[in-house]
Amino acid sequence: MRNPADRTDTTRAHSARVYDYILGGEDHYPVDAEAGDAMCRHWPALPVHMRENRRFMHRAGHYLADEKGIRQFLDIGAGLPTSPNLHEIVQGVAPESRVIYVDNDPTVLAHAEAPLNGSPEGATAYIDADMRDPDTITGSPRFRELLDLDEPVGLMVIGIMHFIRPPEDQPLVQRLLEPLPSGSYLAMTIGTGDFAPEEVGRVAEEYERQNMPMVLRDLATATSFFDGLELVEPGVTQVHKWRPGAGQQDVDDRDIAMYGAVAYKP
Ligand code: SAH
Repeated sequence: MRNPADRTDTTRAHSARVYDYILGGEDHYPVDAEAGDAMCRHWPALPVHMRENRRFMHRAGHYLADEKGIRQFLDIGAGLPTSPNLHEIVQGVAPESRVIYVDNDPTVLAHAEAPLNGSPEGATAYIDADMRDPDTITGSPRFRELLDLDEPVGLMVIGIMHFIRPPEDQPLVQRLLEPLPSGSYLAMTIGTGDFAPEEVGRVAEEYERQNMPMVLRDLATATSFFDGLELVEPGVTQVHKWRPGAGQQDVDDRDIAMYGAVAYKP
């Protein structure tokens, strides 16, 4: 296999690095910053929206670890490390928690090869795989080594589905859920144009121009990802309204283009 650094194309914007740039990180190239700036010109709320997506991940991870006792997690589309990362959240609740990160971006892989600073009792691992090929995830030796499939797993699919087109989108989530035992949970966020259609539509067009086609979904379509599962309260909501923390009452609905939910696998 080639060195991951060789796969990094610094002449084209990449979703992980644009997200890092907009969230104020340092792991991006000028091309990503230019793309991010163009997107924010189309929709100045984009940083608020992305931050609230990230905060949903924090709350959903904490909820699953703390209130549901989940001790192993599979995070699809992990992104570049942005503290706190999922393993920091869940190991903060239970140090023995295990987290597998999955991403297909070579920049993310290069970061993951530096040792992940998890708790000594727990474990973190990284799988370099494309979500559109779920067998490379569930068939990976790391998947079998780290996850005990007799115990429930938290499957996190956060901030990635807008890059996955129908009709393959829903079957992919089902295939990732299939090997997970009853009692597992799915936490997911799904991009939508429902609250600021024009602005979010322009952002989607900008992503498309940068070779990252984007899918926006309405509430009914977002909800259908959870068919066969039991949604936990409050169901599918905009991410800032899902078990909100302090300060989130002030967020304007029009600034959030993401639905989120957590559901139980019976
Ligand atoms: N889950 C994180 C990061 C979201 S950014 C969060 O919500 O904060 C979206 C991530 O999905 C990027 O890191 C990108 O590289 C990854 N990604 C996009 N398409 C992918 C695919 N087909 N397979 C695996 N990862 C993908």
